[in-house]
Amino acid sequence: MAYSEEEVQKLNGRKTILNCSTTDPNKILPMKYNWAREFYKTGIANNWTPDEVNMQKDVEMWMDPKALTEDERRLVMWNMGFFSTAESLTANNLVLSVYKHVTNPECRQYLLRQAFEEAIHTDTFIYCCDTLGLDPDEVYSMYEKIPSIKAKDDFVIDLTKSILDPNFSTEGTENMQKFVYDLVGFYVIMEGIFFYAGFAMMLSMLRQNKMIGVGEQFQFILRDESVHLDFGVHLINTIVEENPEIWTPEFKKSLRDNIIKSVELEIAYAEDCLPRGILGLNMETVGQYVKHIADRRLERINLEKEYGVENPFPWMSEIIDLKKEKNFFETRVTEYQSGGMLEW
Ligand code: MN
Ligand code: FE
Repeated sequence: MAYSEEEVQKLNGRKTILNCSTTDPNKILPMKYNWAREFYKTGIANNWTPDEVNMQKDVEMWMDPKALTEDERRLVMWNMGFFSTAESLTANNLVLSVYKHVTNPECRQYLLRQAFEEAIHTDTFIYCCDTLGLDPDEVYSMYEKIPSIKAKDDFVIDLTKSILDPNFSTEGTENMQKFVYDLVGFYVIMEGIFFYAGFAMMLSMLRQNKMIGVGEQFQFILRDESVHLDFGVHLINTIVEENPEIWTPEFKKSLRDNIIKSVELEIAYAEDCLPRGILGLNMETVGQYVKHIADRRLERINLEKEYGVENPFPWMSEIIDLKKEKNFFETRVTEYQSGGMLEW
């Protein structure tokens, strides 16, 4: 028999995201955090795999020495180098630390879906290496050898050190702050800022009909990542709502400072990807885009914005919004045929 309204309220009244010893993590019903369930369904509706994307034109372009400039090749390689390892770094953080401490079953259901999507993203870069004949040794060591990539990864790894400690628990104000600080590091900084200069650069190439298969893969990843970010924001804001004592002026300042620091790293990365600019894209504009999205991220977690700059790439929002399309996979072929890359 279904739960009565009264029973649901009684059971859910005791549920919290963190430190909830009164509910069983194996009992997902009745649900309290319906948003987590919605994110799960959105993830399922956006299902894709990299081998659905045809790479023939990319292979031809990549092999033709005259089809791309040195700078365009550098842009592609630097993004391969960052994303190929960033995806597994994200997956590891998710499974080894977020999943451990977020015991709420409806959130965990989404975390499992997200982890699967990170596996798909990891697979995407395997597929790109295979089809384009890239040297895996080169691609997978760029996060250690290219300073602007290493700086971003080190920044995220550093953030997560304290909670990866096997003795870490989220009990107490200070530990909850550590955990939220870490969630901001994964979701807002890694998935919400560090991925976005790359998305903008690769999708700008796609708009010019260059490396369209890779561009389409990045478009799918962007769609997934924007949902991951949205879930992360809900998770962070709900934890703060349930534990208002953690939201002190000092704590807010530490989060804000960290986001601002990450913007500097992301801009340094963009400059390194794009030292001389390419057609339709220069690092100043990419930098402005990073600042614009950082403001949006700050506002979403109820922090004051920093930069106040306009979005130089309004077409990026259009791509992100496409995720609301239910039958995305049925429509995308005609969209490409009739729309043309430059008209997004
Ligand atoms: Mn991902
Ligand atoms: Fe992600």
